Amino acid sequence: MKIYVASSWRNQYQPDVVRRLRAAGYDVYDFRNPREGDTGFHWSEIDPDWQSWTPDKYVVAMQHPIATAGFKSDLDAMKWADACVLVLPSGRSAHLEAGWFCGQGKPCMVYIPEPIEPELMYKLASRICTSMDEVLRLLAQTGPLWGEGAMTENDFSTMFKTGIPACGIKCPACGVMLIGTTQAGSDDPVPTTCPGCGQLLHYYQQEDDWGMFRWWQVRAKKEESGG
Ligand SMILES: [Zn+2]
Repeated sequence: MKIYVASSWRNQYQPDVVRRLRAAGYDVYDFRNPREGDTGFHWSEIDPDWQSWTPDKYVVAMQHPIATAGFKSDLDAMKWADACVLVLPSGRSAHLEAGWFCGQGKPCMVYIPEPIEPELMYKLASRICTSMDEVLRLLAQTGPLWGEGAMTENDFSTMFKTGIPACGIKCPACGVMLIGTTQAGSDDPVPTTCPGCGQLLHYYQQEDDWGMFRWWQVRAKKEESGG
């Protein structure tokens, strides 16, 4: 799977995110090093005095061949990628890129490694993750994107929004994958008894440290005493 990492030059987490995604076997577009020997786009290449531009000077500079090439490099990578990980904190560019993925219907995860100002429109994203482990776990659960066994766009949306994906979380007792979704009234509900070992299962939502985001978890449920 090909992943576009959207972030800012100032973001301290981005290099580690790129490294961990690559270590997990993903093809990653790193805007800081889009190609061998290319260290990405910088306004200073157009004009060392770029920080004092007027709006009109900025509009003219946008037509500069370096700006055109820099934009094309990023946009081509966005079209190439199957999914986006927006790494916070980040600025306008990364947010426009992530918004493009949401609008295209491609999976987009917002990764929040440190406390941030709350933002309602992150609800556009497929999922909000508070750890890199969670990002990797979700990506691992997406399965193939094309060919045999590929998920449909609807699968993706269900998977990310309900938290219990088609290829499931595991039974805490025997480790069997629990297939289904937690969505109320779903045609494909998760099993309440493990198909592997018969363990009764209880699904619950866990909140993050700030109580803002929730995701589904499973635990073994004690046998009910009856009566
Ligand atoms: Zn089991």
